[in-house]
Amino acid sequence: MNTKCASFRLTLALLALGIAGSGPVLSPQNAVAQQIQTPESFFGFQMGADRKLARWDRLVEYYNLLGEQSPRLDVVDMGPTTMGHPFLALYLSSPENLARLDELKRINATLTDPRGVSESEIERAISEGKAVVVQSMCLHSTEVASGQMAAELMYDLVTRTDQEVMRILDNTIGIMIPCFNPDGEVMVTDWYNETVGTEYEGSGMPWLYHKYIGHDNNRDAFMTNTVESQYGAEILFREWVPQAYVDHHQMGAYGARIYVPPYAEPIRPSADPLVWREMSWYGAHIAYKEEEAGKSGVVNAAIYSGWGHMGFHWITPFHNIAGMLTESASARLATPLFLHPDQLQGSRRGLPEYEEQTSFPNPWPGGWWRVRDIVEQQKIAAIATLDIAARNRETVLKNAYLKAVRQTERGAQGETVAFVIPAEQHDALTAKKMVNKLLGQGIEVQEAAAEFVHEGRVYGAGTFVVSMAQPKMGVIRWLLGRTFYPDNTYTRDRDGNPIRPYDMSTDNMAEFMGVRVDPVAAAVETRLTRVTALIDPDGQVSKGRFGYVLDGRLNDSFEAVNLLLAANVGVRRVDRPAQEGLRPGDFLVDAGASDGTVAEVARETGVDFSALESDASSGSRALSQLRIGMYQRYLGGNMDEGWTRWLLEDFSFPYSTVMDAEILGGDLNDDYDVIILPADGTARMTGEQGEDSGRGGGAQSYPEEYRSGFGQEGVDALEAFVENGGTLVTFAEAGALPIDKFGLPVRNVREGVPSTEFWSPGSTLRVNIDNTHPMAYGMPDHGLATFLGNNHAYEIVASARNERADRIVTFVDRDLLQSGWLLGEEVIAEKAAMISVEHGRGKVVLIGFRAQHRAQTHGTFKLLFNALVGGPGSADLAMDGG
Ligand SMILES: [Zn+2]
Repeated sequence: MNTKCASFRLTLALLALGIAGSGPVLSPQNAVAQQIQTPESFFGFQMGADRKLARWDRLVEYYNLLGEQSPRLDVVDMGPTTMGHPFLALYLSSPENLARLDELKRINATLTDPRGVSESEIERAISEGKAVVVQSMCLHSTEVASGQMAAELMYDLVTRTDQEVMRILDNTIGIMIPCFNPDGEVMVTDWYNETVGTEYEGSGMPWLYHKYIGHDNNRDAFMTNTVESQYGAEILFREWVPQAYVDHHQMGAYGARIYVPPYAEPIRPSADPLVWREMSWYGAHIAYKEEEAGKSGVVNAAIYSGWGHMGFHWITPFHNIAGMLTESASARLATPLFLHPDQLQGSRRGLPEYEEQTSFPNPWPGGWWRVRDIVEQQKIAAIATLDIAARNRETVLKNAYLKAVRQTERGAQGETVAFVIPAEQHDALTAKKMVNKLLGQGIEVQEAAAEFVHEGRVYGAGTFVVSMAQPKMGVIRWLLGRTFYPDNTYTRDRDGNPIRPYDMSTDNMAEFMGVRVDPVAAAVETRLTRVTALIDPDGQVSKGRFGYVLDGRLNDSFEAVNLLLAANVGVRRVDRPAQEGLRPGDFLVDAGASDGTVAEVARETGVDFSALESDASSGSRALSQLRIGMYQRYLGGNMDEGWTRWLLEDFSFPYSTVMDAEILGGDLNDDYDVIILPADGTARMTGEQGEDSGRGGGAQSYPEEYRSGFGQEGVDALEAFVENGGTLVTFAEAGALPIDKFGLPVRNVREGVPSTEFWSPGSTLRVNIDNTHPMAYGMPDHGLATFLGNNHAYEIVASARNERADRIVTFVDRDLLQSGWLLGEEVIAEKAAMISVEHGRGKVVLIGFRAQHRAQTHGTFKLLFNALVGGPGSADLAMDGG
């Protein structure tokens, strides 16, 4: 934290400008206004000027300059992004407030978690505290305006001396995340500058605007897989827990000009009601300020429902933060777009016609639309949020206290008063990862030191308890509690068709991760201690005469195996246990492995190396490092591909990215044993669908070198790869490619079934798993498949060679839905969710659902991992396994 005093910084700024000690004596306020460089003079153009984008490295220089020149701003570099750019947080307040930021943070913590705090302390905190408001920009990199707007906003806030800004500085701590994805900002700016002036000007990039995850970066807030999400979580969930949060985005080009809070129906229950009232209150002020400034096309309570994904703006209400969005109409990156009046449209949610209504009294008439327009309306929204918080500082702080107290009381009195995470788990290391994710949300977790009995169940030492009697009970409820998405008039259109939820219809972390969690109705009465640090278990090592055994049920055993194979340590996999205590899928590690390597792998992965005291090699096979090809295309990139790549790296699987040219080159068996096709449409892989629709509207094409599609020739190469002994793994709708193009005897039973008859928009569905099959080794007998709208369920078409297909994961016969929304379960009941089909000398493994969804579904990772470890004979074993 930058704690330089104001006068010191002022001196520095004066020195930098070479005017210290000369000229007329300036009052401090005027001095500030006159010295600080405008964005226009720094960047050479006005923020949002046509065809101009400031790049992140220059923006960082500018913020650092403002930080040096202004006593109102502290610039904090939180650390490197995924690709090594600085991730900044900008603290804006009066110099007096900035000088006592740590104290103000403690006061804020008192109000946001007032358990055990006296009434007089609360009163003091309300009177002395400051309203904390976080705003973030530039999260979605093709939504270019907010990253530019932030520079002008900061300039205005550090130079303006009018009453509005002085009140903001005195009464609030404004924390800006001026770019939530700096890597993408750099990529998109470079791409735009390369294409400006060509026929491709304004078109999106051919690849993802993050090394791994692109637009999904705001679906990561509850799992915090990426480092950018971890920085965001540190500010929003743990260090500050602000009173309000606004994330500035852009939407399509053809509707309202800006959406501002509150959200439309339906809303997700279990937040404190005050938080929804606050969002309406902030939103009304923002909308009012837009109209006052003469901006048209402002809509609220429409388009974005209050039941969304657990991204930053949608999870924050459950942290008792007024968590909000603005969404501006897009141009074409930085290129203006002209819109005719009859091209403008309403929205299925809350704006049925593009006409005047209470929440949309002033429709924009059409015409040119520029990034500058977006910058101006976003800046008004950003300042309005700070303004109302500043004007009502004490009310805002009192609300923070009320929300926390009332949620804690609700949690203590609800049907479920705690969630117990038993020490006894199928994969105990994954359960610990889940506890770490809860801690990352700032949730209080406790641990039992000794065995205890509760509600008739025995829980071992090391069991975790998450009490609902804490301010963040709303977050806990949605991450650990069973979820049913509403099916009512808000979620059906006039013809009765279900309307797709904004994202998933459940975000239950425990169900995704395959972790057993017990909701309990009575408070747990045993000695519990609060978990104060992330859990980082070291694996225990116990050497046996014949080496070691690794538990095949642990996801982390696969990482251990990858590290061991990379260190040339011999590893075998058990197919038929030769002795008691072993299970199919367990790993045997050679006794000759160096103690140092074993100790290091145990420490790094947390996996226990248990002693193997007798020869268990019969019924097992030696593993070798398979050569894995990960298919990647252009066309804007494929997030499922990026997440899968992220996951492979997280578990240390070596892989190579395979693009069209390599597939078209043929002879894929020379380089690969396994090729993965992430979830994708056939036409997008083959190139029959060679265009994509950009935010700016209309189809867009890409420069020649970035067009993708491997065509029939590529299909033939992939089929030859399988016929020659390769394994092709497909996720979800990518399965259609081998089914249709290789003529596999398999049918997706979902095909042609309308949404009124079958519907599962991101639910967890109950499945049976044949864990005697090598592709399902280490899995439990029963599990949950994360099933998205266009995922597959398979039946095997009758033929003389039915034995060439194996049903590995199958849907249960009834009551499929664990969480989410499911219509027409009979369509997929008892059908296969995952099958393996022999084709020539190789096989195709069709995983019909998202077994690796966003690197969140730890409970089914092994269904992929099993296909990626193998050795001589593994194909034969697949044939007779189970
Ligand atoms: Zn966005």
